[in-house]
Amino acid sequence: MSDACRELRAALGAVALGRADPAEEIALRAHLDGCAECRAELRELTSVAAALALGDPSRDMGGPTQPPLALEKRVLGRLADERDARRARTRRRVAVVAATATAIAAALVAFVLVMPDSSPSGTRVVFASHAGVSAAATLHSRSAGTEVAFHVSGLDQGDSYWLWLTGADGQRIGAGTFRGTGTPTDLVMTAAIPLADARRIWVTDDHDKVVLDERLLAPPA
Ligand SMILES: [Zn+2]
Repeated sequence: MSDACRELRAALGAVALGRADPAEEIALRAHLDGCAECRAELRELTSVAAALALGDPSRDMGGPTQPPLALEKRVLGRLADERDARRARTRRRVAVVAATATAIAAALVAFVLVMPDSSPSGTRVVFASHAGVSAAATLHSRSAGTEVAFHVSGLDQGDSYWLWLTGADGQRIGAGTFRGTGTPTDLVMTAAIPLADARRIWVTDDHDKVVLDERLLAPPA
């Protein structure tokens, strides 16, 4: 049985009982045209459903036409499967929406990508301001690593912060720690990583929560 069969068979119970939604039934009928196995399954379920209908207590108070319990269980099982399949489809739709949102977020990040270079003026990074914190940095390539001239305002007075560069290998390298002063502050720190290898510059607070974060593009080879 193919995946398409497995997926559609969950809906067969609803079709047999005449309770499928029209869009679903169209998809199912298209599959049935090419699948003898599923056609046979639907025939069987339809006859079971018909038997159940005869045995429906609202139409007939039981008696000799009552179908065996096993058949009833089977159709109820199909209906449960159908319900589960519906839920799975909803989850997939949610996943698609989430994936789209992620793609949009990635596209927005791409707009603030900064290309590091080793020009005398350095690589300028302006951070997207976040929760009242705004900052900019100028990165210079030095023999000791990457020097970061960092200007920041809006950090909480007295709180400790960490400035990091992350390399192409994903490892974060500390450039230094500093305290928020409650006023705009200029700092110069150095991280032991070549500027050409730096892919991200970011600041965390003393809970390791990210406060500022920008990506750096790989320089052209
Ligand atoms: Zn099939």
